[in-house]
Amino acid sequence: MNSPKGMGKGALRLAPWLAGGLLALVATGLAMRHAARVQLEADAQHAALHWAAFARDSVPDLDRALAGGGFTPEALAQLNRLRQAGEVFRFKLFDAAGRNLLVSDDLQPAGQAAPPASTPAPATAPNAHDDASLREVLRSGRPQVALRRETRADRPPVYSEAYVAVQRAGRVLGAVEVYVDQTARAQRIDAAFRKVALAVTLALTALGAFGAWHWGRRARREREAEERMRYLAQHDVLTGTLNRARFREALERAEARAREGGAGFAVLSIDIHGFKDVNDTLGHAAGDELLRAVALRLRDTVRELDLVARLGGDEFAVLQAGVAAPEEVSRLGQRIVDALGLPYEIAGQPLHAAASVGAALYGHDGSGHDELLHKADQALRRAKASRRASFSFYDAVLDEKLQGRRAIVRDLRHALYAGELHLHFQPLYERDGATLGGYEALVRWHHPQRGPVSPAEFIPLAEESGLIEDLGTWVLARACEVAATWPPSLSLSVNLSAAQFRRGDELVGVVGACLEAAGLPAHRLELEITESLLMGNTEAVVQTLHRLTATGVRIVMDDFGTGYSSLAYLWRFPFDKVKIDRAFTQHLGQDPKVDLIVRSIVSLAHSLNIRVNAEGVETPAQMRCLQDHGCDELQGFLLGRPSPAAQLRHEGAPEEASAPRLPRAATDFAPLPPSTLPTPWAVTKPQRV
Ligand code: C2E
Ligand code: CA
Ligand code: CA
Repeated sequence: MNSPKGMGKGALRLAPWLAGGLLALVATGLAMRHAARVQLEADAQHAALHWAAFARDSVPDLDRALAGGGFTPEALAQLNRLRQAGEVFRFKLFDAAGRNLLVSDDLQPAGQAAPPASTPAPATAPNAHDDASLREVLRSGRPQVALRRETRADRPPVYSEAYVAVQRAGRVLGAVEVYVDQTARAQRIDAAFRKVALAVTLALTALGAFGAWHWGRRARREREAEERMRYLAQHDVLTGTLNRARFREALERAEARAREGGAGFAVLSIDIHGFKDVNDTLGHAAGDELLRAVALRLRDTVRELDLVARLGGDEFAVLQAGVAAPEEVSRLGQRIVDALGLPYEIAGQPLHAAASVGAALYGHDGSGHDELLHKADQALRRAKASRRASFSFYDAVLDEKLQGRRAIVRDLRHALYAGELHLHFQPLYERDGATLGGYEALVRWHHPQRGPVSPAEFIPLAEESGLIEDLGTWVLARACEVAATWPPSLSLSVNLSAAQFRRGDELVGVVGACLEAAGLPAHRLELEITESLLMGNTEAVVQTLHRLTATGVRIVMDDFGTGYSSLAYLWRFPFDKVKIDRAFTQHLGQDPKVDLIVRSIVSLAHSLNIRVNAEGVETPAQMRCLQDHGCDELQGFLLGRPSPAAQLRHEGAPEEASAPRLPRAATDFAPLPPSTLPTPWAVTKPQRV
């Protein structure tokens, strides 16, 4: 909660307070300094007045002297005494006209000869500096005091200079200027000031620190309260998930991003079956507990970037972000169904509460957030209609397709372990079309209800569901087992899926183990891969391929020419053979460009020391073309369809298999239209990645 950003903000808000505190401290210091100065001046004035009053009253015949009558010896003696008294280190006497009658410095110290009696001291004019103060005191009778600080050796560091009028019956007779040494007093006051200043500083600092602490605590509490308010405004209080308003905002944002070309998303609507019963039978507290548990499971099931919300009651929703394909949504939907279907423990009792999920896809089912929410709800209604915990898309066709796929995966898993899969082998002939070189193993699945299912359909599903690893291993083991019964001249080709390379070295081990278990020499095995395998994690895949060739097996590039950059991959790995795709064979002799391409592929491959196979040879004309173009190996229905191991026709094959019927003349054949092909899997082909 105390984010560095928040703390930075707090410090920023604290700054004016700190500056204010500092200013107050400085102002207090200055005020105290001023107070000390005023105090000193008051003291100085008081001392000067006191002295002047004492001088006026104690010097005999002062009035006469001020009136120009000169100083009597008694007056001078008293003045001399006064000169040595206390803090006064100098004084001057002026007459009413401002003439200087006497400067104490000119007086003789006691014991020395005094200036001649009744001789007035020479009257000198006051200097300009003192002029104004002197005139003022003579005019108004009000004393004038100035505090001075000096660095001159003949003066004390701090002294006050005061003009005090000598008055009789309200008449100003003259003035006394007194210099009072204030050094000791200033030191005393300074020391006291420093002490007080220190105490005040400490007190203010302590007060400031307390204030800052108090303020900080209050600010933190306010911030926490604010955050809590914000959280409460955005989240559902009971479950901590987003509330409806925030969910809609998140949907709007996702929609805006998707509209600008960003990732797609899906809305999943979730409902807990029989929630009302839980509330009615176990009470609302138990109902709340269940809702919290559901929210927790939902959050654990989705990824970090997905959002979970409770829209009300037992109605939850998920925004699935970054959706590229409907399968991702159905997978999450199913995961949610599975996770929420696990038993709960509510109010100390085990409880089963299934949940259904409906989903709407951005771009597919709608693009407005309201529309998507609405359609996800409709999908949910359909899912709930099945009366069991399930997942549904809004689009019924998509739903059916995916349901169908899920069913196939389920059945395929069963088929794999129940031995419902088997292999067919399709012959590969040398260029002459008569010499059998080997067979390609092709997997077959005869579904008990659906009948034969094309590998084009189930191999991609096996790849998606992860079944391909077990399936591929089974094909490899079984094919090696069969091939080991063939004459040593015949090779075996096995198709590998990119998914089988995910575990890298493990595949090398599996291949070795299958060969060893069957007793088949490695050089008789060819592994067919597609270029898409090389498009991805090239370095790791190339390494695995090298390890495989090191064991003696050969690597073949299948479906050559159908990818995006077939040629680019030829130099990446030393293939033993490339298989020109059926699509080229079909157009041979019809489109001169195709002939040109095939000829170029053959020439390129041969120059790289790579053999060339041509797939899908269905007519003698195609075969002749391929022979002319220099293909090394031919494969297709013309030469032999994929058949079970028991029906293979080669030297040493089981008795019931007759000798291969090889085409001798073009008239022997009538090309089969694809629709009449006996097996559905012979027509389409899966993308093997
Ligand atoms: P593929 O590897 O290109 O296999 C050749 C496909 O062409 C086979 O289809 C075969 O029956 C068909 N075919 C052969 N000659 C002709 C012909 O003259 N005309 C026509 N129209 N088709 C012909 P199939 O058996 O349906 O296999 C389809 C694809 O399924 C294969 O293409 C391969 O990609 C994949 N597949 C099959 N078995 C396996 C397997 O055991 N493992 C893996 N990973 N993939 C497999
Ligand atoms: Ca193949
Ligand atoms: Ca192929």
